[in-house]
Amino acid sequence: MRFTIHLRDLEKESLRFDGDVEPDEVDWNLNDELIQAKGGLGYSLEIEKHEQNLLIQGQLSQSFVCECVRCLQSFTLPILLDAWSGFAALEGEESLEVVNDLIDLTEILREDVLLALPQHPHCGPQCPGLADPANAKSAPRHSAPDELSSAANSAWDALDHLNLDNDKD
Ligand SMILES: [Zn+2]
Repeated sequence: MRFTIHLRDLEKESLRFDGDVEPDEVDWNLNDELIQAKGGLGYSLEIEKHEQNLLIQGQLSQSFVCECVRCLQSFTLPILLDAWSGFAALEGEESLEVVNDLIDLTEILREDVLLALPQHPHCGPQCPGLADPANAKSAPRHSAPDELSSAANSAWDALDHLNLDNDKD
């Protein structure tokens, strides 16, 4: 079953939802032979209705089978979003369709799990790499952590520039 809820249940109080959406019920649409969903999309969520919005908070989990960009072995990559939160609008252009008081939130969960996937999946620190070092070098090692650290670097760069400006005065 997809993750659908009755809006009228949320009129008086927030509610908790636990379960999982089977893989063929989610349009993963990964467009990538290197990554495939494995098992269901697990959720453990608290949902609150605030006027015409739903606030969704909790945990999402989904495993994927990936091919490592370095050693080309397939491995299981578990994605866990532990303190996740999302929004669903009930009115306006971005709103989700409500049919007979039921709203389907599967797409919101799917999108954020996809965003958490690394661009270049890597089997882990124990990765043996490829026998040919030339090939191993050309494969990016960790994409997500690198992106994070470069964001941090640019923040420091910005601070450095601020300091320089102050020195001139
Ligand atoms: Zn590997």
